[in-house]
Amino acid sequence: MAAFREHVSVSGLLGLSYGLGTSLLLGFTPVQGALAGWLTAVAGMLPDLDSDRGRPVRELFGILAAVAPLLLVGRVLAWTGMRNDTETVMILLVVMYLAIRYGLAWLVNTFSVHRGMFHSLPAMIIAAEVTYLGYPSELTTVKLLMGGGVAVGFFSHLLLDEMYSVQLNGIRVRFKKSWGTAIKLVGERMMPNVITYALLLTLTYAMLSDAGLIRPKTPQQPAALPHADAGGDTGVLR
Ligand SMILES: [Zn+2]
Repeated sequence: MAAFREHVSVSGLLGLSYGLGTSLLLGFTPVQGALAGWLTAVAGMLPDLDSDRGRPVRELFGILAAVAPLLLVGRVLAWTGMRNDTETVMILLVVMYLAIRYGLAWLVNTFSVHRGMFHSLPAMIIAAEVTYLGYPSELTTVKLLMGGGVAVGFFSHLLLDEMYSVQLNGIRVRFKKSWGTAIKLVGERMMPNVITYALLLTLTYAMLSDAGLIRPKTPQQPAALPHADAGGDTGVLR
C-alpha cells in the first residue's frame, strides 16, 4: 500500500499536468484548469477516507468539508427552495461543513472497511459523477472537465495502491495479499456492493439526463392543456 506522502506527490503532479494540459490544449481558461487540477490532486487521496489512520484522514475530511459545500451550496438552495440571501448561504455552508467534517466522517469510520468499496472502480465513477452533478455550471464541458479530473486523480490512487502490492525480489515477482484490492469492481461483502451499485445507477441516470442524453419519460403536451385552462381561468377572473 502506498503511503499518504506518495499519494500526495503523485496526485499533486498529476493535478498540475491535468490543469496545464486542459487549459493549454483543450481551450479551458487557466482558472478552470487550475480548479480542475486542484480537484484532481484532492481526488488522488479520496479513497483513503476509509482508513482510520489518524491525522491525514482527519485533514482529508477537513478539506472535503471545506470544498464540497462551496461546490454544492447552489444546488442545495435550488433543491430545497431556500432563499438565496447572504445569511441563508452562510448558515448552509456552516451546517454542511459540520455535517461532512463530523457526521460523514463518523459514518465512514463506523461503517467502512479499509480497502473496501472506497477502493474500487465504481467508487471512482461515483466520485466523478457527484462532482459533475454538483459543479455549479451550465456548461456540460466544464462539468465534464471537473468530473474528469476527479476520475483521473482517483484512478491514480487505485493504480498506485496496486503497484505497491507487487514486490520485486531479484527476478522473482511476489504479489502481496493486498494485490487486487484497489482496482476492483466488487468487494467481498454483500451490503457495500449493493449500496455502491445502487448509488452508481442512480447517479449515472441523473448524469445522463442532466447531459440531455436521456429524456424523462413524461413528455408534456403544452398544446392541449393550457387552452382548456385558459378558458376556465378567464371565466373565474373576470
Ligand atoms: Zn489507498
